[in-house]
Amino acid sequence: MTSPSTLLRRVINPRILELGAYRVEPSVGMVKLDAMENPYRWPAELVQEWTALLAEVELNRYPDPDPAPLKHALADYAGLPAGMDVLLGNGSDEIIQILQVACAGAERTILAPEPGFVMYQLVARGLGLQYVGVPLREDFSLATEAMLDAIARHRPVLIFLAYPNNPTANLFDERGIEQIIRAAPGLVVVDEAYGPFAGATLMPWLERFPNLLLLRTLSKMGLAGLRLGYLAGAPQWLEQLNKVRLPYNVGALAQATALFVLRHTDLFEAQAAQICRSRSWLIEELQAIDRLVVYPSQANFVLFRTAAGAALRIHGELKRAGVLIKLLSGGSSLLTDCLRVTVGSEEENRVFLAALRKAV
Ligand SMILES: *Cc1c(COP(=O)(O)O)cnc(C)c1O
Repeated sequence: MTSPSTLLRRVINPRILELGAYRVEPSVGMVKLDAMENPYRWPAELVQEWTALLAEVELNRYPDPDPAPLKHALADYAGLPAGMDVLLGNGSDEIIQILQVACAGAERTILAPEPGFVMYQLVARGLGLQYVGVPLREDFSLATEAMLDAIARHRPVLIFLAYPNNPTANLFDERGIEQIIRAAPGLVVVDEAYGPFAGATLMPWLERFPNLLLLRTLSKMGLAGLRLGYLAGAPQWLEQLNKVRLPYNVGALAQATALFVLRHTDLFEAQAAQICRSRSWLIEELQAIDRLVVYPSQANFVLFRTAAGAALRIHGELKRAGVLIKLLSGGSSLLTDCLRVTVGSEEENRVFLAALRKAV
């Protein structure tokens, strides 16, 4: 009989065998500041209203594969330009996958600045697309000339730009983005996962650039558990992408919840405003700690650099103190000694800072 590992090697694509899985650290009982979640729950009355609504969902039926009311509500909320449409995904992660499945093929390239959101690369490698990462400058601004060179050399079918960027928390400059869109031989996807904390969006640009798509998610604004992302752009693109989107990718409970949530956007806007205030406070407190370099943030997280060689130890000590943040050191060379912390509730931020002061 063939040994299980031989069988594995025969069946699973070598690309996948080589791939490192996306790791989620255990976090039960911890102050969880590693994944850019919103720390706030909903008021009790709202929870009641919501659960009453869920009770009416017919779970015996498949969800609507193309829910017009939800798409209209999202279009309104997002300020979608006339003539554009949206495609819904089970989180924007799924849309990143849908985009790449639709564009996959031999000799095809995906391009993104580095460091950037890991999912762009993970999906590309799983699908056998070439992935080209173009380093940002030392200050994490867009290296526009290097991007334009790489675009000319590799002719990417897809370019991803996160605006603001994860894990660096900054907004790239609009002029650089515009030059990249104009030079791109294929699609440019601007990923606005952290838009609610940046007060900036390129949504109006959809009317100017036919090769631009805009990716959004409800996750970071407060609904990470819901799994709902959306892609905005011209219907001609979405029509093609819809062919590889599985028809029932967004469940009925998620659809009903999202519609409900979009009637209460004031609550999420208030939470985002609170998170932005906490961010300013957190940055000041971090700056006051000796030997840390703290980077500016337009998102709901803060990137900071420790003394040389200290990040791994500090990350471990925080973990032992019950605080989980993200260790970035060891990945991109631009992120040596770097850690990333999500802006939490006021209490969580205080617990984090106390543990960090001790560890430093
Ligand atoms: C978190 C994140 C996403 C994924 O969001 P989901 O909608 O929860 O899948 C996409 N893009 C960036 C840049 C992110 O940081």
